[in-house]
Amino acid sequence: MVKICCIGAGYVGGPTMAVIALKCPDIEVVVVDISKPRIEAWNSDTLPIYEPGLDDVVKQCRGRNLFFSTDVEKHVAEADIIFVSVNTPTKTRGLGAGKAADLTYWESAARMIADVSKSDKIVVEKSTVPVKTAEAIEKILTHNSKGINYQILSNPEFLAEGTAIEDLFKPDRVLIGGRETPEGRKAVQVLKDVYAHWVPEDRILTTNLWSAELSKLAANAFLAQRISSVNAISALCEATGANVSEVAYAVGKDTRIGPKFLNASVGFGGSCFQKDILNLVYICECNGLPEVANYWKQVIRINDYQKSRFVNRVVASMFNTVAGKKIAVLGFAFKKDTGDTRETPAIDVCKGLLGDKAQISIYDPQVTEDQIQRDLAMNKFDWDHPMHLQPTSPTAIKQVSCVWDAYEATKGAHGVCILTEWDEFKTLDYQKIFDNMQKPAFVFDGRNIVDPEKLREIGFIVYSIGKPLDA
Ligand code: NAD
Repeated sequence: MVKICCIGAGYVGGPTMAVIALKCPDIEVVVVDISKPRIEAWNSDTLPIYEPGLDDVVKQCRGRNLFFSTDVEKHVAEADIIFVSVNTPTKTRGLGAGKAADLTYWESAARMIADVSKSDKIVVEKSTVPVKTAEAIEKILTHNSKGINYQILSNPEFLAEGTAIEDLFKPDRVLIGGRETPEGRKAVQVLKDVYAHWVPEDRILTTNLWSAELSKLAANAFLAQRISSVNAISALCEATGANVSEVAYAVGKDTRIGPKFLNASVGFGGSCFQKDILNLVYICECNGLPEVANYWKQVIRINDYQKSRFVNRVVASMFNTVAGKKIAVLGFAFKKDTGDTRETPAIDVCKGLLGDKAQISIYDPQVTEDQIQRDLAMNKFDWDHPMHLQPTSPTAIKQVSCVWDAYEATKGAHGVCILTEWDEFKTLDYQKIFDNMQKPAFVFDGRNIVDPEKLREIGFIVYSIGKPLDA
């Protein structure tokens, strides 16, 4: 039986390995992590992450050929294929701070693999890493090899949170990069055979190592760029009376452009887009390509601009101050169907409103109060000015309350900000909400999920992104 070990039981390691275990009953899959609470949660009825369909998959194969363990070294030593799916955040200090990927976790995983391995291994980069990382990993492993042969593959993950299981069941493509040597090709084939259990052959792409590593960064940069493009147009729509939904529809009808990922919003979030673009920017700068770096930087600048534009709109609409006013925030996760709040635009919006002394009441169906308090208390790293950290005042945090119901959050509020596109926010009883709010009652729809005309009929003053404003 082939044995797989995955280092890192996070948003990627957990779901990807669960699906491999489900689809490959002939393979034993062990997911290991240094975090005891995370592994305990994977072994319990309450998984550490919320992802539609995940519970089902885990229930079907946990204890059969899927295991979660903190015994990292034992399972790494026993595995034939080791996926490394550890976090690769943006560096916050030292060389490249604010842009470069922090590969500390990766390097320590590689050194541990070298320490404990007693047989040949295929080591798979599952984390998103800078192009050429495989070269560094190879150095660490071969200089400590004790005669063991290591083949490094790049197999970046393209799943999106909220649809991870669907994406893993039917991936647009699986990308495998390897060395163009006989051993490298053999290793690529071993991994191809794993995916061939359920992925059609024409969807499994093989490339050289550097193409695979760079493709992941490029894919995220392109996705984020689409959001920033439509958001940039949304600002122009508001200035001119055009409607961004109509413009996006007309633009997306061009088959060369396509309709997906053209929803204007308060901005993109999540642990990947900003981090991966910053990583790309850093790589460009290191390779003497400042103009290319500037091009990609602009995608993040527009995203920051969109978030501050939203906050300014809220404050300006509410007679230039939200001091002492209650603002209900509906949605804190960076997108629907996940409890993940990493880099969520809600953090910046809440911080902006707190800066003007608003009282904020937050409701999100999957995000806990602890998580929100922690996110708001955290210093946000300013990538554009790496020497400055945004200060967070503990008194401001006291102006935030978290509730478990949208009606509770909006009761007595002066304004409502919709920051996550949860389906349940589309079907709330807005008449009831209006009746219980201060007047005039404002709705600021940061995801364009409610019909502004219907809300106006009720009596709300409505701001939607990129749409004609109330007179
Ligand atoms: P995560 O923070 O949820 O999980 C990483 C896990 O690795 C953590 O549980 C951590 O405890 C563990 N870990 C770190 N060092 C370890 C070590 N030495 N030994 C054992 N465990 C260790 O991160 P994630 O969201 O799963 O992302 C992982 C990687 O995948 C990142 O590079 C990310 O950019 C990439 N990625 C993420 C997504 C996504 O949607 N989250 C999608 C595609 C790719």
